[in-house]
Amino acid sequence: MSYLHRFIDGSPCDLPLGKVVCVGRNYAAHAKELNNPIPSTPMLFIKPTTAVVGLDDAIVIPQGRGACHHELEVSVLVGEVLTNSSPEAAKKAVVGYGLGLDLTLRDVQNRLKEKGHPWEAAKAFDGSCPLSAFVPAEQIADPLNLDLQLERNGVLQQKGNTSEMITGIFDLIAFMSTQFTLLPGDVVMTGTPAGVGPLKGEDELALTLGKYCEFAVLVG
Ligand code: ZN
Repeated sequence: MSYLHRFIDGSPCDLPLGKVVCVGRNYAAHAKELNNPIPSTPMLFIKPTTAVVGLDDAIVIPQGRGACHHELEVSVLVGEVLTNSSPEAAKKAVVGYGLGLDLTLRDVQNRLKEKGHPWEAAKAFDGSCPLSAFVPAEQIADPLNLDLQLERNGVLQQKGNTSEMITGIFDLIAFMSTQFTLLPGDVVMTGTPAGVGPLKGEDELALTLGKYCEFAVLVG
């Protein structure tokens, strides 16, 4: 596995890759597009380190397992140990913000949901979490008002702003830390806005995080 956390400006990042803690249905319009109710507390799941790849590598989607959807999300790199933390402590612990894809085998997930089974087979497969380099936290003017968007083959598919989250970034990290201790090098995925859809080989994606960074990604 060759993934290493990086900063966008090339400054060194010596944090080890840890777990990725994700949230489902954190944007109301996305919950609605999949006909899901909005949960009363954040609905969490975890991707293992083997799910993480660099966003600058070509994305490889699993074959023969049905539709693989893009879910564009703001990713957050944690730099301190957080257990039962406050939102203020969570904010101080963030060392960077970036973009990640929570790749989801939607047909598999729908079958698991029908049976009331866990989601890992749909969400935690190898390569299911491409992560960009991180913008150092001090360079982001307002993490709670940050645009993210995804174009697929030149067509806008997903567009959102972190202000639209049901549970905002720091409240979310604080809640996560009441369920799982977050360690330096762990990544938090903050949920996807509406507009998710299937990927296919040779798709060209353009991902944008506010005015801070833009990434071109090829689906292999
Ligand atoms: Zn997601």
